[in-house]
Amino acid sequence: MERCTTRAAFCQGVSALAETLADDIWTMVVETAGTDGADTWLRQHGGAWLRQVLGVALTARAEQLGVTGVCGGGGTVAFRQRRPVRLHTVLPGREVDATLIYGQCAQCHAGRWPVLRELGADAEGFTPALQALATLAGVIEPYDAASTELLGRFAGVAVSAEKIHAGAAGGGERQ
Ligand SMILES: [Zn+2]
Repeated sequence: MERCTTRAAFCQGVSALAETLADDIWTMVVETAGTDGADTWLRQHGGAWLRQVLGVALTARAEQLGVTGVCGGGGTVAFRQRRPVRLHTVLPGREVDATLIYGQCAQCHAGRWPVLRELGADAEGFTPALQALATLAGVIEPYDAASTELLGRFAGVAVSAEKIHAGAAGGGERQ
């Protein structure tokens, strides 16, 4: 699905993707007798579908928000460019790719990502939900086991032990 700037184009794109997914699910679950691991397959493919949809929606949100305002030091923040950004989410497969608008202060050159700030993503692009999940997993299990077992097996997302440790200790936020 390409970049969408209107609700109608977005809905049409999502529908086309859903149709392909529905076709695959029919083949996988209905026509393939005794299918083993249909839930795993669906989590993978459904997750990929959701991640793609979210990426396109966030790209549209970035276009809608734009980038303006005044920096802490009084400088004017202006549009600089569009950049590909990878977010890390709790959706199965974890990664969501979007193209986000990036701005910069004319005085101090500090960068600004309005959508990332709105989402509450941290410096590595982890959404608050994944930050919370990683922190929770770190509290429940020793770090290594939490990373590989809890998050990987049950949530379909991989988070490094270092990240879980940093999350439990409190992390930073990207502007
Ligand atoms: Zn500034």
